[in-house]
Amino acid sequence: MKINFIDLKAQYAKYKDEIDEAIAKVLDSAQFIGGSELDSFESEIASFVGVKHAIGCSSGTDALLLSLMALDIKAGDEVITTPFTFIATAEVISFLGAKPVFVDIDESSYNINPALIEDAITERTKAILPVSLYGQCADMTSINAIASKHNLIVIEDGCQSFGAEYQGRKSCALSTIGCTSFFPSKPLGAYGDGGAIFTDDDAVAAKMRVLLNHGQKQRYRHSLIGLNARLDAIQAAILRVKLKHFSSEVAQRVAIGQRYSDLLKDTEAVTPVVADGNSSVYAQYSIRVKDRANVVEALSRADIPTAVHYPLPLHLQEAFNSLGYREGDFAVSERVSAQILSLPMSPFLTTSEQDMVVEALKKALS
Ligand SMILES: *Cc1c(COP(=O)(O)O)cnc(C)c1O
Repeated sequence: MKINFIDLKAQYAKYKDEIDEAIAKVLDSAQFIGGSELDSFESEIASFVGVKHAIGCSSGTDALLLSLMALDIKAGDEVITTPFTFIATAEVISFLGAKPVFVDIDESSYNINPALIEDAITERTKAILPVSLYGQCADMTSINAIASKHNLIVIEDGCQSFGAEYQGRKSCALSTIGCTSFFPSKPLGAYGDGGAIFTDDDAVAAKMRVLLNHGQKQRYRHSLIGLNARLDAIQAAILRVKLKHFSSEVAQRVAIGQRYSDLLKDTEAVTPVVADGNSSVYAQYSIRVKDRANVVEALSRADIPTAVHYPLPLHLQEAFNSLGYREGDFAVSERVSAQILSLPMSPFLTTSEQDMVVEALKKALS
């Protein structure tokens, strides 16, 4: 029996009848773009998150891009974000000709350190783009307070934290705009690419709906330069099925993550710290170990898959050379990226599989 890093096959096996039926319904309707599946999905997911508007789109990356476009972020503008994330977070800023300004992370949450944000604000700063990494929301209260003091917009990159709670509210409902991804391996995954944007702001929502459909409100009348960034009906139908089961999957994720932390308590592995009032959906269950290369090798010999999220912080990526950052600029991000290691995680990881992972890990650490 081989342990999967993320068990998507077990999930499909469990919901197969419902998913097959939902896909067949779309095929029969021949309504592949837009239509009632998308409308229903958007209203169901908006109410799950607790916001007025949910806008389905083609990916988490496009959700972020559309958010920046709706706010008119352009060349000369600066957006503050974290260097310890997937490249999409900062890529969209550069793609629009604006400048990502990195701020180091907090060593316990791995999210942007709010205490360092104000020093990075200039007259050109337009927005703060915190990431809720690994499934736990960033310190949104502090970030929102800084943003309102300096008149900045906050966009939460909730691509890994969908379903997480922060002081009684849900990820993606914590600032002007929240973005998530339905990439298959994310906590709420489609069977292809997809994403969504969440906001209570009517004007921002209306503008994003126009932007994601070639800048048209009315067919062949284009008021803005936009994109084709729509969520398709088959993905919406699949996501509606998965959303029905999502709360119980989140509960499983929380339980499995907590069990990992309990089992690893007396080892040298640094386990995730979930702040009071927060829950993590453990998009990744990531620990820190000193001798990562050897641990990865030992686990791989024991047939345990692992992954590194992320081995090189963004300020040291070749694609961002022109920003002029150097090694040493963000010491915490650099240290964490050298030690971080993600273990197999999904709501379908069994107790015995988890025991095998922990046993192999303890052996590798000793
Ligand atoms: C996955 C991810 C994205 C991008 O989402 P896609 O749907 O793959 O485009 C952006 N930010 C973070 C933090 C992610 O994990």
